Amino acid sequence: MFEKILIANRGEIALRVQRACRAMGIKTVAVYSEADAEAKYVMLADESVCIGPAASALSYLNIPAIISAAEVTDAQAIHPGYGFLSENADFAERVEESGFVFIGPRPDSIRMMGDKVSAKKAMKKAGVPCVPGSEGALPESIDEVREIVRDIGYPIIIKAAGGGGGRGMRVVHTEAALSNAVIMTRNEAQAAFGNPVVYAEKYLENPRHIEFQLLIDEHGNAVHLGERDCSLQRRHQKILEEAPAPGISPKLRNKIGSRCVDACRRIKYRGVGTFEFLFENNEFYFIEMNTRLQVEHPVTEAVTGIDLVQAQINVAAGNKLPFKQDDIVIKGHSIECRINAEDAYKLTPSAGRITQYHAPGGPGVRVDSHVYHNYMVPPYYDSMIGKIITYGDTRDQAMARMRIALSEMVISGIKTNIPLHLDLLSDLSFLNAGVSIHFLEQKLKLHNKAGD
Ligand code: ADP
Repeated sequence: MFEKILIANRGEIALRVQRACRAMGIKTVAVYSEADAEAKYVMLADESVCIGPAASALSYLNIPAIISAAEVTDAQAIHPGYGFLSENADFAERVEESGFVFIGPRPDSIRMMGDKVSAKKAMKKAGVPCVPGSEGALPESIDEVREIVRDIGYPIIIKAAGGGGGRGMRVVHTEAALSNAVIMTRNEAQAAFGNPVVYAEKYLENPRHIEFQLLIDEHGNAVHLGERDCSLQRRHQKILEEAPAPGISPKLRNKIGSRCVDACRRIKYRGVGTFEFLFENNEFYFIEMNTRLQVEHPVTEAVTGIDLVQAQINVAAGNKLPFKQDDIVIKGHSIECRINAEDAYKLTPSAGRITQYHAPGGPGVRVDSHVYHNYMVPPYYDSMIGKIITYGDTRDQAMARMRIALSEMVISGIKTNIPLHLDLLSDLSFLNAGVSIHFLEQKLKLHNKAGD
């Protein structure tokens, strides 16, 4: 086992990974930008290294600075968290070339899955059901594109092969709008991801977003840990997640889960990974694979009893998974609310000093957050400042506990989206379960219209 791990991230996930290391008796190195010098996880780490100024490009995305920090502190492995460099194959390669262990998949797996066109091809080959669409990249000739899209049938969605974070996508309803949409998405993709390749998919009108958690060691042992429903999204970004997904039978779970397991074995994947699907009319359609830990991993931990970060570290150290598929039992229900520093309905970010902070507690309540009384939320990074995760024997119990937790939580001095979560948890459509990925956007629109 490693003696020391460097955590190449910030915020709640830096603290989460640090806690896993501590539980395993592993020392930690925190790296931080000048804006995060006073962060809790920096104070709590065994060692810490400042890697640059506030701007992410100069600190959390600064590969040479992170590698040097690992060198000077004698860390043996690097955990990338999520976001930042976690899905950057070049980073994973540099880490391994410099003699450290990258706590994540092999660089070639990251590269293959980071290109959504090659990911879809690999998944199709492995028998994973995919959204119908173009066979690979759209050609240059707009006449050929028209033909391809006619075969798929409108509406379609044009997506960037290198896209991520809900960006680089455009829905097209008519042939008249096609040519412009392709050109615009290509230009945006080139500017944002340095890759102009785009592809087309059938636009599913009312799907849910359901994803499967996978865990694989280097010895060919692979399991799925069931699914999560992440349909509550705004701007294609998740805000509330739950496990298991309501209405998915154990039979369907195992059918799709074992396809994902087969696909992972086939591509010699290692570590944790997530297969994202759209789910409509009782059918699953693969959209992409995330080759890292997800923000919403705690809901899976709650219903399986498996610590995913400790499992990641164990796999990276070359250990065998201590369980088989039959040992995995999904028990009870779990919900996660992402607490964002933003206006609940207008979604505008709200950085600043937290003048009062009280975290909730009680049975079945977990709070993962790096913030505290008097903490300054910097304006430079993602607006998420923490997560509340509740667990119950039933969905109703997990929801009831979440309602109490949200109402107990006090964060003053900045705006948060707690009012939106409370609103969702009293919304009958959501409580009845199975709402689509458009539900939250529609709700926000109605609310903002009423307020105008
Ligand atoms: P990203 O990598 O940017 O997260 P995804 O491919 O995972 O992109 O898609 C993000 C979200 O966009 C999905 O959760 C869904 O809400 C929407 N989306 C993507 N593909 C489709 C599709 N074919 N039909 C309808 N909605 C889609």
